[in-house]
Amino acid sequence: MHELALVDQMIRILRTKAREHGATRITRVRVVVGGLSCASPWALRFAFEALTRPQRPEAAGPLQADGLLAGAALDIVERPAVARCPRCGQEFPLDEAMAACPRCGSAGKVISGTEVYLESFEAEVPEGPEGTPKDQVEEPKEDPACLRR
Ligand SMILES: [Zn+2]
Repeated sequence: MHELALVDQMIRILRTKAREHGATRITRVRVVVGGLSCASPWALRFAFEALTRPQRPEAAGPLQADGLLAGAALDIVERPAVARCPRCGQEFPLDEAMAACPRCGSAGKVISGTEVYLESFEAEVPEGPEGTPKDQVEEPKEDPACLRR
């Protein structure tokens, strides 16, 4: 199950970002999963739970040892894949890799929807600039090495 590796990488990115922003706790993580990505939302959630919520405290690995992600919510945004017709330029959503253009019937070429990435996260930052307890971070558009089809 490579979702475990994906989530493991995401957690490492989150850790780095949290440190950069001086966050002590991450409360919410938003991940975008393309309709044709290699990852299953169900497996991602399972992996996230497994890596952030150990059943027994003594079983905690180095990733969850400091509780940075303890109890963090995971939002998974499923984004349908989009294809573009090479003949007429029509763009259309698709749910399987081979789909025909609704206008001319040519085989569409997938232009988005194979990605999995960390879109944003919310964290508790002690003594924020305006006393805001939450810091919405939108920058990490990193694709954690998704195995593309
Ligand atoms: Zn077409």
